Amino acid sequence: MSRGELTEAGRRHWQQKQERRAKIYRRRRALAVVVLIAVLLLIGYLFPRAWGWVSQLSSEAFSGETLSGEGPLDEVRGNQIPESGAPEPETTPEPEPTPEEAPDRASDPSRDPDSIHVLVNRQNPLQPEDYAPEDLVAPEVRMSTQSQLLLREEAAEALEELIQDAGEDGQVLAMTSGYRSYAAQLEVYANRHSAVGTEETDELVARPGYSEHQTGLAADVISIDNPNCIQGHCFADTPEGAWVAEHAADHGFVIRYLDGAEEITGYQFEPWHLRYVGEETAQEVAAEDLTLEEYWDRPAAAEYDVEEPDLDPAGTS
Ligand SMILES: [Zn+2]
Repeated sequence: MSRGELTEAGRRHWQQKQERRAKIYRRRRALAVVVLIAVLLLIGYLFPRAWGWVSQLSSEAFSGETLSGEGPLDEVRGNQIPESGAPEPETTPEPEPTPEEAPDRASDPSRDPDSIHVLVNRQNPLQPEDYAPEDLVAPEVRMSTQSQLLLREEAAEALEELIQDAGEDGQVLAMTSGYRSYAAQLEVYANRHSAVGTEETDELVARPGYSEHQTGLAADVISIDNPNCIQGHCFADTPEGAWVAEHAADHGFVIRYLDGAEEITGYQFEPWHLRYVGEETAQEVAAEDLTLEEYWDRPAAAEYDVEEPDLDPAGTS
């Protein structure tokens, strides 16, 4: 083997080696470019999302939204139903996640005094407080008073059917109270108030603007055959009371002030006080034995927000 051959072979070998190196280098460079592009794309994809998470977390932590929550007994946020159409006091940047939706209900509570679903309790006076319905009529039912009692038309028809149905089942019911105006409620309240003061009056008489009777959707019924138990817990134990408890919902009425629910409604058990809410809602409320506050997922309303009643004859609004 000559030196020239060796050199020739060596040079070829060296050339091949160089070519392989160049090939490997080109492949590596291509791979590096691909990896770099992939990394850039990944950063471009992740960064805006990461930023979104960070800003969402910080807005939730500082807006106070998650602190006060919206539970049914939430005192922090205030108990009143927000005015429909009123501007939101706080803007929420993200829609509230509601993974556990409240059960589907036949109705929602309303602030509209003309709605049959208006919620009236110690936390939710009528608005305006001197509201008066425009479709009051006298139901064609037996009444226990000299004066003619009134209800809103829809409630009046429903009560007529209820009392007629009861009669067909041998239960004689009469209406003893219906619509009560702001002025009438004010008079009853103020008379008692001047004698015994706020605390004792609040125990027995609703403040003007806070009575369900002012909606024209509430009726008190009594048992004609049980005159000793006109309006008392014992009404629930009369056959008429039992009939009402079983059938009121078929006619769109609920027993508004349930036994043992004083801490929610603010009222003792009133098995005679019927509130018209329409049949669908009444059936659902009765099936679950709920107060309207519970059914509509509203806070308990045992206490008035305002310490002293407003006894201004003109109302507050
Ligand atoms: Zn009543």
